[in-house]
Amino acid sequence: MAVSRAMRPEKLLAACAIKGLHILGTGDALHPVWQREWKPFLVNNEGICVIPTGEVEDEHRVHHLILAEDFGQFDQLRDLLAPKSKSISTNGRPHVHLSGETIAEWTHDAGALIGPAHAFTPWTALYAYHDSVAGCYGSEPVDFLELGLSADSSYGAGIPDLYGVPFLSNSDAHSPQPEKIGREFNRIRVGSNLSARVLLDCIKAGSITMNAGFFPEEGKYNRTACVRCFTQYSPEEARQYNWRCPTDGGLIKKGVFDRARELSCGAPGSRPPYLHIVPLGQIIQTIEGASSPNTKKCRTIYDAFIAAFGSEIDVLVTSPVPEIRAVHPKVADAIAALRENRVILHPGGGGKYGTFSLV
Ligand SMILES: [Zn+2]
Repeated sequence: MAVSRAMRPEKLLAACAIKGLHILGTGDALHPVWQREWKPFLVNNEGICVIPTGEVEDEHRVHHLILAEDFGQFDQLRDLLAPKSKSISTNGRPHVHLSGETIAEWTHDAGALIGPAHAFTPWTALYAYHDSVAGCYGSEPVDFLELGLSADSSYGAGIPDLYGVPFLSNSDAHSPQPEKIGREFNRIRVGSNLSARVLLDCIKAGSITMNAGFFPEEGKYNRTACVRCFTQYSPEEARQYNWRCPTDGGLIKKGVFDRARELSCGAPGSRPPYLHIVPLGQIIQTIEGASSPNTKKCRTIYDAFIAAFGSEIDVLVTSPVPEIRAVHPKVADAIAALRENRVILHPGGGGKYGTFSLV
């Protein structure tokens, strides 16, 4: 449910090679049929380390991300969760009638890692319903926090609860298109013998050296705003108006930016660098004024970049700008602007997406 029909293991692995990803989460690993689809690719995977991952929704509709060493750990967890869930055999992300604390305990008993999924999303997420980690997980610790597309590291850096909790920036892709898979990613120091176990240990130890992903301001609930006319308000104004827009009476929805700020009562702790990126296909689409990144012209330019540099992430993150310029000067300008953070942001809010321009 809710994912592209093209979401097949072989397509995901092929997309990883083009994108430049060396580690891939399966998603939906609690589901036995999806597990079966993956089994042949756990040994024959084009050199990509495949990590069984899945989400669970708890009794308060908070989503939790689980990372495991193998599918056996998910089997063990499914046996425990099954009596508490009506959707475990039908839904890739089942709802279970259990607290976050119990789910976390059982996950740890199985040997897997757990943390809040897309923690700053204004619904179905930790900070939509709780003001603290303990409010959701009780005395059970979390192993990481997934920032989600609506936040970058700065949103969590000043929340004292999260000091020492590694941040993950995962793509949560529902399709294998290069604009979706790896749209956010992590760079992790893993040593020479990469395996699922090694990766889990590295995440727990906080060996993340870079996070990369969207500008949070692009999100449609970034700032506090009216859901009818999208007028943006400060939290103080919204409170004064009793969360009703003085112009049209529409509901004023608190933005992710303001929610993170009210939780950030500590000094920002040190975090790995966060690189704001835009998928290469989207950069090309914008420059060409095309209706989609999949037009023939856009695809030709994209393929030329992959042929020249090997992968999309190499183009976005590491390739020298003069070499990118040789393939396409305007794309080189855009990538240079992103790397140097030369950008003007127009944050979204109230359900209207934000925009940005490069300078
Ligand atoms: Zn309004």
